[in-house]
Amino acid sequence: MKISVLMPALNEAKNIEAAMANALGAFDNMEEDAELLVINDGSTDATAELVQKTAAADKRVVLISHASPQGIGASFWDGVDKATGDIVVMLPGDNENDPWEIFRYSKLLEHVDVVIPFLYNKEVRSLFRNALSFAYRFIINTSFLVYFNYTNGTVLYRKSILKGLPYRSTGFFFQTDILIRLVKAGYLFAEVPYRLGLRRTGVSKAVSFPSLLQVIKGYIRLVKDQYFKSSAETVFSEDSQTLKRRDRNMADLILDGHKLSSHRGRVEAWLRGERVAPITIDCSLTRACNYKCVYCYGQLQTNDEKRMTKEVIFRFLEDAAEIGVKGISFVSDGESTCSPHLYDAILHGKKLGLDMAVGTNGYLLKDERLEEILPALTYLRFNISAGEKERYTEIMGCPPNGFDKICGTIRKCVEIKRRLQLPVTIGMQMVLMPEFADQILPLSKLGRDLGADYLVIKHCSDDEDGTLKVDYDKYARLEGLLKQAEAMTTPEYRVKAKWSKIMSGGKRCYSKCFGPPFIIQLSGSGLVAPCGMLFNSKYAKYHIGNIADTRFKDLWKSERYWEVMNLIASDKFDARTMCGTLCLQHKVNEFLWALKEESEPIPEVPAKEPQHKNFI
Ligand code: SF4
Ligand code: SF4
Repeated sequence: MKISVLMPALNEAKNIEAAMANALGAFDNMEEDAELLVINDGSTDATAELVQKTAAADKRVVLISHASPQGIGASFWDGVDKATGDIVVMLPGDNENDPWEIFRYSKLLEHVDVVIPFLYNKEVRSLFRNALSFAYRFIINTSFLVYFNYTNGTVLYRKSILKGLPYRSTGFFFQTDILIRLVKAGYLFAEVPYRLGLRRTGVSKAVSFPSLLQVIKGYIRLVKDQYFKSSAETVFSEDSQTLKRRDRNMADLILDGHKLSSHRGRVEAWLRGERVAPITIDCSLTRACNYKCVYCYGQLQTNDEKRMTKEVIFRFLEDAAEIGVKGISFVSDGESTCSPHLYDAILHGKKLGLDMAVGTNGYLLKDERLEEILPALTYLRFNISAGEKERYTEIMGCPPNGFDKICGTIRKCVEIKRRLQLPVTIGMQMVLMPEFADQILPLSKLGRDLGADYLVIKHCSDDEDGTLKVDYDKYARLEGLLKQAEAMTTPEYRVKAKWSKIMSGGKRCYSKCFGPPFIIQLSGSGLVAPCGMLFNSKYAKYHIGNIADTRFKDLWKSERYWEVMNLIASDKFDARTMCGTLCLQHKVNEFLWALKEESEPIPEVPAKEPQHKNFI
């Protein structure tokens, strides 16, 4: 990684040559590429000429000149803008610092984003200076609830993380300002011991009345921004080590793709023509719903109503576990919280060894039972397609108190998850119709404020007749907004647009459908069909049976089951013309099509398993 050293200098003619020589000498000892940008901040002595002379002899030196003094912070930021390195560090032109003392820690930026030095030879400074430093540190640490040992040293930054800062302090407070904003945003840092040298000549400009005034002003601004949010917030850098480490620690949370590669054995068996059990069953415990979302696909899935009694549900779960199903999600078709058996079903499924998950609008979810079910769930995802109360009520067709109830329930889930240290993922899902674009940013911010693990923004599916009137061409215009939303990602919260589907224009690359043997759907009526798009009674020729009448394991073993699966996987079926858009099985279908029809090799099982791997 290339290091850019930024050296502000104001009337440092007596020290600057030695400071530059020291920095260049330290460069010679490093394996990394480096550059030295000297920012002459309106000096009236020979500082600029001396720097120019060195720059003429050494290409690593660059002179930046200010016509008049603009401040040490302004000089630093000017240097950041012109630096070509990956790491930036400020070394004052007064030659007080030994460059090698800080360069030695540059490799730490492969693990954190900021390296903060603290002095271990405080005796080189006067008692007064040390006392002042102690008081300053005490005020900063107490005001912002941090525990820094020192904030005004030669800090090493990964340059990309500085770009997202919403404010640039120009005075002596700039270094503290940057550190507080970065650390409060969640960036990882390391503190390292550092030995300070002695000034050769002159006095430090850091302790003076004008610099004190600048510090007070900067402090007030920072307090306002941190506690009263008067300015924009820090945008997290995707290029940071903090995010990379978070991703490694959380394993991979795949929000735009599939996880079938993690089930190589079952894919191989299917390729050999064996009758495999589904890995995931997506279903509902009822066809009812207490909401009327304008984008609801469930309304297009009308079929015969049968009662999903507790006995039927338990029998189904037992069968699923027996034949080798791995994960059951109560997501599709109806709203499973309308069933009185939801809580028992989750706990029973988990006891049988199944991974359990729920997708819900959350209105009827009983807060008092969350502590009981969250330990049994792999994920709990809230269907929430607006971030403002009025728009939420309008888009989701719910009672006016719906928004507050859901926000309260999400908060409660997050609190329980953190308190009990549960692995469950608390997610939010926005079904995006182009006309809801105004809600993308408010909802992204809401998810972060509520403490959710992620917000996924997905397209709206439509049937083959275009009943929901989704205009897929309009999605392309939302790219900028969606990218802005994704920039709200932090180490604890991820915003992800399902780009692969949103930008697909609703089109398919495959004609045969191979996905349902791996991920099948059941209607809230008990109907078993390959997928939700075929639930409607008009597709009766694809209906396999009903678990209220026949045990699921018997349906799975039946000739009818495999007749239907073979039919949709044959030339007699064309998903491009006969199906609605972007079904649940779409990504799995693309993957299997490439294996079966284009002879692509089966990818290796990923070294680190993705999260939620049994919900493919
Ligand atoms: S909450 Fe789900 S099932 Fe209910 S209306 Fe909305 S999209 Fe449809
Ligand atoms: S491609 Fe068609 S049949 Fe296959 S899962 Fe999707 S909607 Fe259903």
